[in-house]
Amino acid sequence: MDYDAVIIGGGPAGLTAALYASRARLKTLVIESMTVPGQAILTDSIENFPGFPGAINGFKLIEKFKEQARHFGAELVTGDVKKIEGFEKGFKVVLEKRAYSSLSVIIATGARPKKINIPGEERLTGRGVSYCATCDGALYKDKNVAVLGGGNSAVEETLFLTRFAKKVSLIHRRDRLRATKILQEQAAANNKIEFILESKPVEIKGQDKVTGVILENIKTGKKTDQACDGVFIFVGYEPNTAIFKDVLDLNDKGCILADPDMSTSQKGIFACGDCTQKLLRQVITACGDGATAAFSAQQYVEELKGIAYK
Ligand code: NAP
Repeated sequence: MDYDAVIIGGGPAGLTAALYASRARLKTLVIESMTVPGQAILTDSIENFPGFPGAINGFKLIEKFKEQARHFGAELVTGDVKKIEGFEKGFKVVLEKRAYSSLSVIIATGARPKKINIPGEERLTGRGVSYCATCDGALYKDKNVAVLGGGNSAVEETLFLTRFAKKVSLIHRRDRLRATKILQEQAAANNKIEFILESKPVEIKGQDKVTGVILENIKTGKKTDQACDGVFIFVGYEPNTAIFKDVLDLNDKGCILADPDMSTSQKGIFACGDCTQKLLRQVITACGDGATAAFSAQQYVEELKGIAYK
């Protein structure tokens, strides 16, 4: 076997699993995707990770996680995993041009932004439609942008966009926001933000680039045009689990079903963070899951090697 634990995913869950697994002296490899960026790394300001009063930038936090995991011996590589094979005596984690064998696997593949599935969205993606304020916000200096959604992501990213945009219209389908109260307070106090509630986006307009959004009032059914130069969509996330659907038990949303010890339906495979079915998707809860998954993988591997401490 090349490794004791191969961890798929280099976000908070995967890197915390790497920290704990390497400290348990498991030979540990983290495979970080080259094509699917993590949610935390794209977050400009994380205000609720303990130990960083005044917030920390997501990229910087992930760099710290990596440094700490490497310090204890974890190896990190980039690549996109295509499948997991094996299951009898260990696993083969298969990438495009290489494969790694391992006694255990920890899946921490996270989640990606959901599409809203309205006309214009796909055609204008990259031409005014975006799912990442950190990546594209600076393109909208002194312009008008719309944000679709009412959860924590929508409100956080709305606040971030006010650094650049002249006006940010936060468009939500209900009469109040889902986001946590402190974010709502920050948004209400920001005079660059316009709240458009009880409005459902039904189409994104524009030929070569976004010119506006058509909204439908959910009570009256009346349609209005909301002119804007960019549309940022934050209507939730879906788990990156497609390659595991024939291997592991998933729920109807594609989230991996994991027990409290992070074990999955396949012995020797553990899962943690946003790719699993869970109540609260936060950096801190992903880290907790990662630590538990590594501890369970350690017990599993030591049992296999006949060195378990009982
Ligand atoms: P979310 O909490 O699921 O919110 C998605 C929002 O989009 C909801 O308000 C939803 O409306 C709306 N929506 C969904 N489908 C829609 C559609 N087709 N048309 C119009 N609106 C639609 O997702 P999220 O804000 O991306 O957050 C995901 C997870 O990450 C959450 O667990 C969140 O707590 C966590 N997160 C935490 C932080 C933080 O703590 N600072 C930051 C970012 C994310 P309804 O309300 O009507 O369902």
